[in-house]
Amino acid sequence: MRSRETPVALQGTAQRAVLEVRGVTKRYGSFLAVADVSFSLEQGHVLGMLGPNGAGKTTIICTILGLVHPDAGQIRIAGIDARQDAREALRHVGALVESPTFYPYLTGRENLRILALLRNVPEMRITEVLELVGLAERAEQRVGTYSLGMRQRLAIAAAVLHRPLLLILDEPTNGLDPHGIVEVRELIRGLAANGQTILLCSHALAEVQQVCSHVLILDRGRVVAQGAIDTLLAGDHAVVLRTPVPERVRALCAMTPWLRLLAEDGNVLHLAVPSTCEEEFAQLLLTEQIPVLELSRHSQTLERLFLETTSRSGKRSGNHALRRGRLGWWRLVKGQEK
Ligand code: ATP
Repeated sequence: MRSRETPVALQGTAQRAVLEVRGVTKRYGSFLAVADVSFSLEQGHVLGMLGPNGAGKTTIICTILGLVHPDAGQIRIAGIDARQDAREALRHVGALVESPTFYPYLTGRENLRILALLRNVPEMRITEVLELVGLAERAEQRVGTYSLGMRQRLAIAAAVLHRPLLLILDEPTNGLDPHGIVEVRELIRGLAANGQTILLCSHALAEVQQVCSHVLILDRGRVVAQGAIDTLLAGDHAVVLRTPVPERVRALCAMTPWLRLLAEDGNVLHLAVPSTCEEEFAQLLLTEQIPVLELSRHSQTLERLFLETTSRSGKRSGNHALRRGRLGWWRLVKGQEK
């Protein structure tokens, strides 16, 4: 597998976000699927987007890709307004959002060649991406003979063919066997290590923790936690506080430099409290007369943060028999399954 791969840099915008999502809201009829979601993705960062089924992840990805029109909000890709000039903005994006479809009777290289022609990418780049995804040796074999993991890697090769600034991967290890999962995960790690900006949507929390620099957790269409993984997990300084006055604790966080709000869900707040400030924290709760219903301290893992900030199921109430497939097709499902 090739080790070096540098996407085209954002010209003159070292500090500029590759992706900016501001106040994006999407309703399906009266159902609010995405509610005022904002986040940004800096160049070289790998953002893991997490959330239970129905949290709104695919809807957000589809709004970024111009497949779903939001009711409100702004999306900028490489500084370009994606709602005004989708074509230009999407030139900077490579995406894997659905199980890849290739011509099974053509080789890996021939399949990429078709895409390269469409995108005006030189032949040399095909060899580069085949190496990058570790398929150089199988490039001349028919895709019909490839394993699912190899097809997924070929799909990632196709997505980065035109050196996009932003790579969007929606559940890239879904349905793969453990070997395939490791192959694809290693590939993503390699891309990330080489500076590729990635938005990764996944249910595999361990994968996100291993691969991503930042995380965004959604629940029922809302952002419930976001930030750098290291900061969010905050080592062993995480405190969970249940109180009937969460707004007062939020105000305290805003006024107290060492006290940080990591995430919240109703009256349960996740706070980062440095171990050197434990006594001060207890004192603060007393002097401010914050009623404490529950207070616990633990080392935070992404899994715990996820479970504590999200509901058991993001499923909408009422009739949930029809679900949309990734690219807009509707299909019948049972219960909470997609
Ligand atoms: P999963 O993890 O299952 O892929 P998700 O986080 O990607 O879920 P979305 O697919 O974005 O969630 O769906 C968010 C909510 O919007 C769900 O309740 C879903 O049923 C609803 N929804 C999505 N698309 C439509 C649509 N075209 N019409 C009506 N409701 C929709």
